[in-house]
Amino acid sequence: MASLDELEKTTTITMTISSYNKITIDSAALEKNYRLIRQHVPHPSKIMAMIKSDGYGHGMITCAEAFARAGCEHFGVAEMSEGVDLREAGCAGTILTFMGFDHRWSDYFFSHNLTPVIYDLADLLHIAAVAEHRQIRIPIYLKFDCGMSRLGFYPSEFSGLVSRLQAMEHVELAGLMSHFPCTDDRSSDNTTQVYQVFNQAVGTLSKESLSVRSIGNSGSALYFPQTHDDMVRVGIALYGYYPDGRKGRLAADGELLEPAMSYSTRVLQVRDIAAGTGVSYGHTFIAETDMRLAVLPIGYSDGYPRTLSNRAEVLIRGKRARLRGRVCMNLCMADITDIDGVESGDEVIVLGTQGQETIDADELGAWCNTISYEVLCSLGNNNERETRFTI
Ligand SMILES: *Cc1c(COP(=O)(O)O)cnc(C)c1O
Repeated sequence: MASLDELEKTTTITMTISSYNKITIDSAALEKNYRLIRQHVPHPSKIMAMIKSDGYGHGMITCAEAFARAGCEHFGVAEMSEGVDLREAGCAGTILTFMGFDHRWSDYFFSHNLTPVIYDLADLLHIAAVAEHRQIRIPIYLKFDCGMSRLGFYPSEFSGLVSRLQAMEHVELAGLMSHFPCTDDRSSDNTTQVYQVFNQAVGTLSKESLSVRSIGNSGSALYFPQTHDDMVRVGIALYGYYPDGRKGRLAADGELLEPAMSYSTRVLQVRDIAAGTGVSYGHTFIAETDMRLAVLPIGYSDGYPRTLSNRAEVLIRGKRARLRGRVCMNLCMADITDIDGVESGDEVIVLGTQGQETIDADELGAWCNTISYEVLCSLGNNNERETRFTI
């Protein structure tokens, strides 16, 4: 028999070692959500799929491909590097980059056919000079701040910008955009007010030009049809969540958006502890009775925040098990005292459905004082991802 030493020298390892923890993306759900949003946003309004932050944690390319299969032709990313990756992956649609650019990289707009969203005069002058030099006309969008106090020109700058653009032969004003701060609140007057500011700023020009007007997000797609305009930029709804969380899901009628992400792991070890025993760092939980715990290989380094300590639940054998004690970097403990027969290796659902029970990103978000958006980015971008296709 070969010694261990010899084995190591002669064995070629070809298997990929994967984590216990796995994010699964349901590609059919992504497509279905796009089609459902299409019903809310009828033609001729365009839909731009917002796939920044690696598709809200779902994988940018996977999402772009799924939405394209459902008919999407417009994609929005935050950084230019995302736009470059997307184009190189074969995306054929319009790609808008929303967060500006470093002037050293402006050639990529031309080489990869990306459309910059411009909110700064220096960037506009720069891109005009590059386009002039290359003798290529580049489409751009101008962004206005109509009430978000984030990126954008002031509405009062609009006419000055238009005069400048008239002198820029190689810059085409392809679109005018802004962003709503409060569309997740159906009862807020803010959306109408911000829309008025946008209209007053850009209305005259855009009516007679071919520029695309775009201000809406998921909230406007679902709750404010009067603000759809030429193009709605939809993010969270495409991933299966309502911008106002569980409230939105409960109030929705007809077919519901379907969450596309689930997150699973396995029980690492089962252990019995006696009444009076403390659990995890700081002993923030002390067993009142004899109990049984499942040790799980997930922690805050997997995007499962420490604020979930003693609060979150997971699904084991189709039942809810509450976390006990603090979430560690790579581990946490769930109470399985009332769940029979749990063994190490059993599947654990952290996000998703098992049997009759479901934990979604709204519920997880509520346990740690945040919104579905952050839960999806945090789990999706810190774990191995696998895409499931239904044929
Ligand atoms: C992320 C983003 C959106 C989409 O917002 P959702 O609430 O996820 O629909 C729209 N526009 C811009 C500029 C964004 O950054």
